[in-house]
Amino acid sequence: MSVIIDPNAGFCFGVVKAIDAAERQLSSSHQLYCLGDIVHNNEEVERLAQMGLTVIDSDRLATLPPTTVLIRAHGEPPATYRTAEARGITLIDATCPIVLALQKRIREGYEQMAAAGGQIAIFGKKGHAEVVGLNGQTGNTAIIVSAPDDIEAIDFHRPLRLYSQTTMSREEYGSLVSNIERRYADLGIEGSDFIAYNTICSRVANRATQLEEFARSVDLVLFVSGVNSSNGHYLYEYSRKVQPSTRMISSPAEIERDWFAGVERIGITGATSTPRWLMEQVKNKIEND
Ligand code: SF4
Repeated sequence: MSVIIDPNAGFCFGVVKAIDAAERQLSSSHQLYCLGDIVHNNEEVERLAQMGLTVIDSDRLATLPPTTVLIRAHGEPPATYRTAEARGITLIDATCPIVLALQKRIREGYEQMAAAGGQIAIFGKKGHAEVVGLNGQTGNTAIIVSAPDDIEAIDFHRPLRLYSQTTMSREEYGSLVSNIERRYADLGIEGSDFIAYNTICSRVANRATQLEEFARSVDLVLFVSGVNSSNGHYLYEYSRKVQPSTRMISSPAEIERDWFAGVERIGITGATSTPRWLMEQVKNKIEND
């Protein structure tokens, strides 16, 4: 039996950058606050907690004395920056540059739509930190589309600009765009003003193709991911489509030996929020237990 770690798996550069920023600060201060989990992976959060990283929420931010707070790769809405400034808090802003650029695009789109009597919609998970940050660019007025029925909140008589959370499924976004186009077409109004922007991170979109190749090359895939990772759920489902023998685990402790009966090649992979060291631990457990 051979055990192979997917060479393309591991943190995306946005997460690497945020963790680097945290580690740099912690190496001198040994204490740092972070707004929300730095990455949707409990094991990595725990490792950084041992180094002095304390996770807080926005309520706690509003009560802190002047201190230093890290903004993770998902980004934050403008209200967070206002709160920090009012409280004399120094921010280390590790928002991923791709998310930052998307925030700017949405802000500009919102201004245009406000002038044209239009609407902004965001395809993403309701309550997800990135979506909260994106919606903040619209004064929290965007229509958040998480499920097909959510498009009923759109007024198809008015202009619409649609964006996606960076970690969503390209296929689901494509079918959402088709559904909305159909609804505009059904009204039979000439020159309907609907533009959908493809704002899914290429790192996520390309990961799906790379994962497909990897999943086909093994007999069983162990997909290592935190349960809160939306990118993890998307990629796990993607892997299952091409390799039905795909199992999701969040730590080596969840491995069951029975899964490997008759299996020749085991592949270990994960989400863009899965640390490489965790996949190494999974490999060691399989090989040494
Ligand atoms: S998935 Fe893409 S957009 Fe999201 S943090 Fe990683 S690099 Fe940035």
